[in-house]
Amino acid sequence: MPDPLEHATGLERQELLAKAAGNEDPFDMKVYKRTSGELSNPTVIPSFYQSRIVGCICQEDSTTINWMWLTKGEPKRCECGYFFKLEDAKPMA
Ligand SMILES: [Zn+2]
Repeated sequence: MPDPLEHATGLERQELLAKAAGNEDPFDMKVYKRTSGELSNPTVIPSFYQSRIVGCICQEDSTTINWMWLTKGEPKRCECGYFFKLEDAKPMA
């Protein structure tokens, strides 16, 4: 069996490395409550990665989560009209 870490690339490799370091949830797949969500005041998501998936609960009582990819430097508007923005997270201690 080849070591999967040897052959993994990109996000997959980062995830495997994070898991190897004891972080079971490297992508921090939690759902964020929106702030006011305007472009001038987006919901800021800290991330160690250049891009990541975030989930938006578009309606307070919604049972579905709207997942979308966020990339640093590109604030994204969800279908519900709220903005999310990816920013550098502090390095892991
Ligand atoms: Zn939304």
